[in-house]
Amino acid sequence: MKKETWKELTIGTINLDAGNSVKNLTGTWRSGKKPQFIEEKCIQCFFCWLYCPHSAILVEGGEVKGINYDYCTGCGMCSVECPPKEKAIIMVKEEAKLAEGGAE
Ligand code: SF4
Ligand code: SF4
Repeated sequence: MKKETWKELTIGTINLDAGNSVKNLTGTWRSGKKPQFIEEKCIQCFFCWLYCPHSAILVEGGEVKGINYDYCTGCGMCSVECPPKEKAIIMVKEEAKLAEGGAE
């Protein structure tokens, strides 16, 4: 059987509304665990910001200040990559999903 080339393949999803990810609160996917930021243990290395797949690390005035739970899916990557021995981000249990407010 002859394999299809990219020219014959059916076109998949096309996003006709560029930038709509701002309206999609990925934090609603989260269940069970959420990251908790402990400011006094943070060394401001920005690893969490670099590795977070949903850009959910809050930065204000050039410093990491917390987590935007509207977009945080609770993947735990920030906590894994946080380098201090006593981590500045730990994963904690969460009873309900926290989609806090609407982002525009
Ligand atoms: S748990 Fe995952 S999505 Fe949430 S802030 Fe950390 S890296 Fe980002
Ligand atoms: S990875 Fe940890 S120590 Fe580094 S900026 Fe983020 S919270 Fe702070």
